[in-house]
Amino acid sequence: MSTTDNQKETLQKRKEQVDASVARADEERGVAILLTGNGKGKSSSAFGMVMRSLGYGYKVGVIQFIKGKQLSGEEIYLREQHPEVFFEQMATGFTWDTQDREGDIKAAERTWAHAEKLLQDDSYHLVVLDELTYMLGYKYLDEEMVLSAICNRPKNQSVVITGRGGGEKLRELVDTVSEVQEIKHAFKAGVKARKGVDY
Ligand code: ATP
Ligand code: MG
Repeated sequence: MSTTDNQKETLQKRKEQVDASVARADEERGVAILLTGNGKGKSSSAFGMVMRSLGYGYKVGVIQFIKGKQLSGEEIYLREQHPEVFFEQMATGFTWDTQDREGDIKAAERTWAHAEKLLQDDSYHLVVLDELTYMLGYKYLDEEMVLSAICNRPKNQSVVITGRGGGEKLRELVDTVSEVQEIKHAFKAGVKARKGVDY
């Protein structure tokens, strides 16, 4: 058998395997996705899915469990161009100051209340819980409460959770886990965070 025949056979086998996998995946439902790891690309991937959903006219909700009041391109874009997207940030009242754990917990809980509402509303096709993992890591939010809300969300709703860590139980609960691994990052070579790329 020539090399080309061999290659053809390999390609044919691969096609059969892919076709079989496609045939097997016949369940229609929303998925839970965890984007984690120490490399760049977690939140931007989540916002890629926001764009995909908006392309089909689906209802989207985004909740950012972030510290401070850093403005980002995605916030400007969604607030200005897509006011129909539910967009909420923890920001206000959040100090990230371990001296004020009580205040931090209150801010996290206030923000979580919005997340919980979206996770009960089947009109939302996609819900992004950006940087949620830190709320679990710092124990600002009760793990069981968060996991059960994710688990009991409407069948056709997808949820994307971003952030490093998150814990074993969250990994088990979600359908898809991707770990973005840092190989290198421009910032470490002294390049400033870039508008429209990093924020
Ligand atoms: P992005 O929002 O760009 O997808 P991310 O969500 O994966 O990044 P975060 O930990 O949320 O990562 O960090 C937010 C900011 O920090 C972004 O500006 C991002 O470019 C930057 N960043 C992410 N990973 C690294 C890294 N490994 N080293 C330095 N800066 C990073
Ligand atoms: Mg992020």
